[in-house]
Amino acid sequence: MVSKLTDLTISEALDLLDKKEISSVELTQAHLTEMERSTVLNAYITPTPELALKTAEESDKKRLSGEKIGRLEGIPIANKDLYCTQGIRTTAASKILSEFVPPYESTVTQQLKDAGTIMLGKVNTDQFAMGGSTMTSYFGVTKNPWTDENGHYNLVPGGSSGGSAAAVAAGLCMGATGSDTGGSIRQPASFCGITGIKPTYGRCSRYGIVAFASSLDQAGPMARSVKDCALMLREMAGFDEKDSTVADIAVPDFTQALTGDIRGKKIGIPREYRSKDLNPQVAAVWDKGIAFLKNAGAEIVEISMPHTKYALPVYYIIACAEASSNLARYDGVRYTTRVNGKTLNEMYENTRTDGFGPEVIRRILLGTFVLSAGFYDAYYIRAQRVRRLIYNDFIEAFKQVDAILAPAAPTTALSYDEMKNMKPVDTYLGDVFTTPSSLAGVPALALPIGLADNGLPVGLQVIGKHFDENTVFQVAHVLETQAQFDKKPHYVKG
Ligand code: GLN
Repeated sequence: MVSKLTDLTISEALDLLDKKEISSVELTQAHLTEMERSTVLNAYITPTPELALKTAEESDKKRLSGEKIGRLEGIPIANKDLYCTQGIRTTAASKILSEFVPPYESTVTQQLKDAGTIMLGKVNTDQFAMGGSTMTSYFGVTKNPWTDENGHYNLVPGGSSGGSAAAVAAGLCMGATGSDTGGSIRQPASFCGITGIKPTYGRCSRYGIVAFASSLDQAGPMARSVKDCALMLREMAGFDEKDSTVADIAVPDFTQALTGDIRGKKIGIPREYRSKDLNPQVAAVWDKGIAFLKNAGAEIVEISMPHTKYALPVYYIIACAEASSNLARYDGVRYTTRVNGKTLNEMYENTRTDGFGPEVIRRILLGTFVLSAGFYDAYYIRAQRVRRLIYNDFIEAFKQVDAILAPAAPTTALSYDEMKNMKPVDTYLGDVFTTPSSLAGVPALALPIGLADNGLPVGLQVIGKHFDENTVFQVAHVLETQAQFDKKPHYVKG
């Protein structure tokens, strides 16, 4: 008996597809039905059901004819609406791109297509990936399928890849692409009780992903298991001549790293992450994770990463500076929405004032400020120098240890009401544990370990050396096996 199709992991589904016990059309239809029933979550901006069914039919035919098939043949997934998809609207959850239909496909989504995946649609995100809740989306907030203590859908899914995380957690797709600039894969994964990895900077091509901060943006998979992330990342990664920052190194079969054995591995626990921002409930789950690794024969080593406390301010200076430059291209001449004015300058002004939400405008202003002649040295250059020190912290740490275990976010999912009343800068504090590894460019995977007393999932992140995703997967897989996190959101369809 096949268990509920929308509960399967990708690797389980591949097995059943292989044995011809299920078809891709059945699998795809099951997810489309779930999507229809779950519109209350507002996970999708643009569902593409007809295209999905058509691709699934072709996929089934291909499989039956004995033709060569992709390694993820027939698997229905969702794409964050930051990835350009040829002929399909790509909005970056913004008004300014709300009618943008790209004439090209991003490298990562093309590779996933080539691997045989079926796209169910485009999922919500914070506008231009700026935020940690999806509350900055022009298309409205996504709801976390995990309810609050009173059973209400009052919680944010995290962000910016909150649509991806909610969709994966609620069974509205089997896996999804996310992107992570300062935590946007790992924080929503933690808030929704799923798994996601931000690979090494340069592992995946950024071609065709709407740019936020180019020296930090990385693509990555979000799914319901470590193995599923390994399967997806293998297809997403690799050299691309269209992106000069992608590394020309071989992509391993990451699933081979899931040996179940981490005896003798040294795992670093960074002292500085036990900060005042860390919720005691999350700290307790972190301790549990440490105990799991010890149990499995790893050696736990306390380490120091002295520049951790500078990561947040450095990140917000660099990310905003790069955003202000990247977003200059949306001028009402190229791309879509234009608001006319009497002069060219007035047209620019009107278009950008109308087309960008308040958070995006705030960041463009901040970024322009830190890059301006009088302040460039004091802010931008200094931030770049401190970024190097943060990077060095990781290089030093990895002389002593094979991987680092840390919380993914300082709290469990927050409620809309809580977040609505927070000052923007206070919401930035949620990125305290994810921004250091983003600035250093090292790979980091978040996975669910347990529930806090409020019944909400808590994720931890495993951080590794540059291009050593294998160790990250290996350690995360052992944690997953020990934690046995099989809780599902207490989600009833509305
Ligand atoms: N929350 C962080 C921010 O607002 C990270 C966003 C991201 O990784 N895209 O910038």
